[in-house]
Amino acid sequence: MQCQSNTELEALVEEAKQQTQHGKIADYIPALALADEDKLSVALYYPDGRCYSAGDIDENFTLQSISKVLSLALALMDHGEEYVFDRVGQEPTGDPFNSIAKLETNKPSKPLNPMINAGALAITHMIKGDSVEDRLQRLLAFIRKLSGNKSITYNHMIAQSELETGHLNRSLCYFMKQHGVINEPVEELMDLYTKQCAIEMNCLDLARIGCVLAMDGADPVSGEQIIPWDIARICKTFMVTCGMYNASGEFAIKVGIPAKSGVAGGIMGSIPKKCGIAICGPSLDDKGNSIAGLKLLEMMSKNYSLSMF
Ligand code: GLN
Repeated sequence: MQCQSNTELEALVEEAKQQTQHGKIADYIPALALADEDKLSVALYYPDGRCYSAGDIDENFTLQSISKVLSLALALMDHGEEYVFDRVGQEPTGDPFNSIAKLETNKPSKPLNPMINAGALAITHMIKGDSVEDRLQRLLAFIRKLSGNKSITYNHMIAQSELETGHLNRSLCYFMKQHGVINEPVEELMDLYTKQCAIEMNCLDLARIGCVLAMDGADPVSGEQIIPWDIARICKTFMVTCGMYNASGEFAIKVGIPAKSGVAGGIMGSIPKKCGIAICGPSLDDKGNSIAGLKLLEMMSKNYSLSMF
């Protein structure tokens, strides 16, 4: 059964919202701590262009880790599968997203997958362009096309805040530089990565991106193949195996859809051939996933029979 009205979603948002009090806003990036933890919004985008939404829908939020799926798609389009997966693995880690542990124990030394920070940094390193600015503009152009929103840009204050405080990510970069996974100046890569993570949009924009991935990379309105279908398939597969960090297994059982979360509270869902979903709820659980967002997705999965399994 498909969603029929915004009112239906409003009721689910109201119920899920009660969860926000049990979570906490991410504050390790100081500027993220300014978000309102009681907010919750959702949008659902169907391939025929129908779109339903509820909650604080006009709020913009930064993609954070959700951007990892989009930079992966671009890096795969730039270099092809073999090059990318020679340098970044394809296995879930079971560790927190910012863990450095497996970088040392995994031999040969390469990040285990593109959805953890180490892997995402190595992927951002691969985005082609003549300068950081050029690479950023290529990524932004790609994301504007996917979302159908030409005005999408990044949040300067949040990017700067992460650049000033992201020493753990810096250490991942230095580790990988020592082992030859990356070879550009660490500060350049940090500059590009923090801007990538700070790209912001609202749930309607993000649900449309989820829908493009759901439709194997084709724009739901024009039919244009924005991402080659095999790359869209790889992205969705990583979303299933690693998209919700070290909660991906439980999420697959409870919700059962390809999804990617970010520490600003966003979640992008992409249900093959069915629809795209976006949620934003900044209050997070202990793994870094939107606590009310998870509840909302569980209810939506049940009501609209979304689980793939
Ligand atoms: N920019 C964040 C970081 O690198 C993204 C992490 C996340 O959303 N889990 O720490």
